[in-house]
Amino acid sequence: MTLSVAVRNAAAVAALGAALAGCGGGTGSPKPANQARTGTSAAPAPASPSATPSGSPKAGAPAAVAVLPPGPNGLTPVFERAKQRTDKTVALTFDADMTSDQGPRAASGERFDNPQLISSLRALKVPATIFMTGRWAEEYPDQAKAIGSDPNFEIANHSYSHHAFKSPCYGLPALDAAAAKADVDRAFAAFRTAGAVNTVPYFRFPGGCYDDQALRALSPARVTAVQWDVVSGDAFAKDPEAVAEQVLSGVKPGSVVVMHCTRSAAPVTEEAVRKVVPELRKRGYRFVKVSDLIGK
Ligand SMILES: [Zn+2]
Repeated sequence: MTLSVAVRNAAAVAALGAALAGCGGGTGSPKPANQARTGTSAAPAPASPSATPSGSPKAGAPAAVAVLPPGPNGLTPVFERAKQRTDKTVALTFDADMTSDQGPRAASGERFDNPQLISSLRALKVPATIFMTGRWAEEYPDQAKAIGSDPNFEIANHSYSHHAFKSPCYGLPALDAAAAKADVDRAFAAFRTAGAVNTVPYFRFPGGCYDDQALRALSPARVTAVQWDVVSGDAFAKDPEAVAEQVLSGVKPGSVVVMHCTRSAAPVTEEAVRKVVPELRKRGYRFVKVSDLIGK
């Protein structure tokens, strides 16, 4: 491999965005996640994902998890990697992508889920954070409930529609500020409707695209935005070995790895995971959820 890791990662991010856009994609690139903050505070999950409209906790509501304090001027905080960690912990994260207009494709047989990946994670005893779109939860409610009831996993918010929170973003349709907050709320509502319990107040921007305006728009949602420091390159990948190699070369203590839980756009992810997990364990790594990384 002659390309630098940075170049490979940039290419992978572009491929990821194109995959998420469901088309050739635009030319926008995500803003570097340079606003990661390492301070943490224990705080209860916000009312939106875990409480009824009356504000009283629902039966089976998730326990409080660590979130980051708001950034300057109340902006939504951004977490990228637990840079302060010196122990070998790593969080594998999986975006369960489905765009709000992909219903007809699902109806015609395209699979946006990946049950084999979920069962392999269970068999390997790898805790994981699934960034799910609300549309995915509507399409696969039984899986959303099963994932969201399994202590091995936590479900975080990847928007309802998988539209852009900052434009341009790989050709994704853009949401305005009011629609952005509503879209996040709608995804949490879809998780509740499916019966998912283990939801956490974390949000991943579709395509990873955000700016201060997007962070401001989401302030009332009281989520922690979660980016990543390791791009797996699994979007549209055909070679699980190459994906595994890219992950293994990028992981550092406290890393967050972005992968996908959708066979439609990431068909070799499960196979790559089965290569990555034993090798990272051999190197002394322990797998944790994002909440464990933020909480330490
Ligand atoms: Zn996505």
